[in-house]
Amino acid sequence: MMLLTFLDHYYKKNITVYDMKRRVFLKILGSAVVGSAFASDVLAGISIIARDPSTLKDDAHIKDYLHRMRNFDDHHPGDIYLDRKNFMLLESSVKRLKRVQRIVGHGNFYLLNFDGAVKTARNFSKVGKFSKEELKFLEMIFYADGASYGFMGEKPLKNMTDRVQRSKVTKIPYTGNYLYKGRPVEIYNKIIKEIGNRAVLTSGVRSVIKQFYLFLNKAYKCEGNLSLASRSLAPPGYSYHGISDFDVGQKGFGVDNFSDKFTKTETFKKLQNLGYIKIRYKRDNLLGVRYEPWHIKVNSLV
Ligand SMILES: [Zn+2]
Repeated sequence: MMLLTFLDHYYKKNITVYDMKRRVFLKILGSAVVGSAFASDVLAGISIIARDPSTLKDDAHIKDYLHRMRNFDDHHPGDIYLDRKNFMLLESSVKRLKRVQRIVGHGNFYLLNFDGAVKTARNFSKVGKFSKEELKFLEMIFYADGASYGFMGEKPLKNMTDRVQRSKVTKIPYTGNYLYKGRPVEIYNKIIKEIGNRAVLTSGVRSVIKQFYLFLNKAYKCEGNLSLASRSLAPPGYSYHGISDFDVGQKGFGVDNFSDKFTKTETFKKLQNLGYIKIRYKRDNLLGVRYEPWHIKVNSLV
């Protein structure tokens, strides 16, 4: 019953959102957290619904949804785009964030908090301070409900100014990445011990600012299509890299570590045999996110 309620709610929401042509995203649309507690059960829900002839309409919606997820990097009818004015702000903000990254260095950028980025921009003329409009734009993106453009996951970081505390993270040698101390480090070390060091940490802790940069840069490259961007990158605040999760790849495999090709590697095959490993974004999940076989789930929301 809970499942049906969730799917019902999901599709109702998406009928509104997706049935409009190339709709632009203009304002904050609230921050309802949808379906978070049911996420792990939704896959089972698909088969339940598919067996019931009275829910064919839902079945068609599910097929359409799965098509979008499997072709995550394409533009689809109903995707939500930024309007022109906001796209210009997206462009200038992304470029500024990139200059901040250059100034502080990649390693520090993983941990840089929002206030730190604003301060760095103000202090370095090479970066230039964020304009009021840019800050308002960033705020709008952060506090918008991801579900309004198709991202259905939970939001572990609720405030734009949430910080990564340096004392709680540790740098993992030779990777350029950090992990949270405790469970994430324990799980990572166990993986390396059991799989061998062909396995490598490809992305660990990401601050709100780092996630902002990744998400907005993706949105910038796809004409401000927030739906497309969020199919492969969680919007800022919504990423579990912010509190615990990390990505594992195979050494020397480069960007292919972040594609389906990763499933062909020795590392992935061995990962699958470790009973304690859980993938956060499974194939055909209903969170609005592509399959990410490299993304290790550490914690649920606490
Ligand atoms: Zn990840």
